[in-house]
Amino acid sequence: MQPRDLSTHSAYVPGRGIEEVARDLGLDPDDLIKLSSNENPHGASPDAVAAIREHADGISVYPKASHADLTARIAAEWGVDHEQVWLSPGADGSIDYLSRAMLEPDDRILVPEPGFAYYGMSSRYHHGGVNAYELSADDDFEQTAETVLSAYAGERIVYVTSPHNPSGSVMSLDEVRALADATAAETLVVVDEAYGEFAATDSAVSLLEDRDDVAVLRTFSKAYGLAGLRVGYAVVPNEWSDAYARVNTPFAASELACRAALAALDDDDHVQTSVDSARWAREHIASELDADTYDSAGNFVLAEVGDAEAVAEAAQRNGVIVRDCSSFGLPTCVRISTGTREGTREAVDRLNETLADLDLGVHA
Ligand code: PMP
Repeated sequence: MQPRDLSTHSAYVPGRGIEEVARDLGLDPDDLIKLSSNENPHGASPDAVAAIREHADGISVYPKASHADLTARIAAEWGVDHEQVWLSPGADGSIDYLSRAMLEPDDRILVPEPGFAYYGMSSRYHHGGVNAYELSADDDFEQTAETVLSAYAGERIVYVTSPHNPSGSVMSLDEVRALADATAAETLVVVDEAYGEFAATDSAVSLLEDRDDVAVLRTFSKAYGLAGLRVGYAVVPNEWSDAYARVNTPFAASELACRAALAALDDDDHVQTSVDSARWAREHIASELDADTYDSAGNFVLAEVGDAEAVAEAAQRNGVIVRDCSSFGLPTCVRISTGTREGTREAVDRLNETLADLDLGVHA
């Protein structure tokens, strides 16, 4: 027996882990700086870790009260009704819930290229198709309604990533509004704000006050440092928010994930430290790296290094793991996640040594 034809499905390729790289290269994991997966270099909020310990005994029951409490807390934060908050295992889970809620077989979605791979993967799982709009390095990956609309052909879902992975560019709220205005009434514009806390732009959640065709994705994986727990959510319009009950995998976010997220939401210091240090680090990378970089509003910076594969490999041997962006269709770029101040300084020094050793003819 075989599964169904999965030949058009691509496997998700995550950034490489420290243990994996250390083992391959015979290095001490403590000597490696991992800046390949846009994780929080300050770890999780200590309050979240304490909450996990405190509630460890509670994992024999399904998460009902904690799910309701977290939903209510997030709803209050955004000033929306609690039904509008769709908790999920990571923002990835929300992408699946939106696919389930929106896509009939053979419906299509429109995604940025380069862009986050999971939008397309989720559509294909749900028997949908994928079209792409181009964000161009020549325009610094500028995101306007016009860029998206030039490829729009009535798709059911249009994804906007703001800040955009892997470039860090943003789409302003005026442009999101113009995009939603110009698309069909039955097209949902999904604004993925997985990196929203690091940006200075306003969240698109405010647009839901007077429209039913925009949804927003947020996550606890980045600014809150809870990537390993898998908890995120979508904020969706009131008009169809009750669809959650029909599409969510029961008990979508785990008991400990809900408890930790609740604690993390109250730990303002940790979020502020994380955001401040990411903003400092992206400036440091932009000004000190011996390669051209793109302006980023996220916790990462895209750099033009000439040969991504060669640089990522040599950097690894030099103790820094960065993301080779060939799989994003950018074979001349690496994406460098922001580290702590100390880690970022050290990583940039090592990357500059690597670039000098390789002598690929790139410079800032
Ligand atoms: N959207 C974007 C643009 C991302 O880069 C990521 C994670 N890399 C996600 C969504 C999903 O994050 P998570 O599932 O960890 O919440």
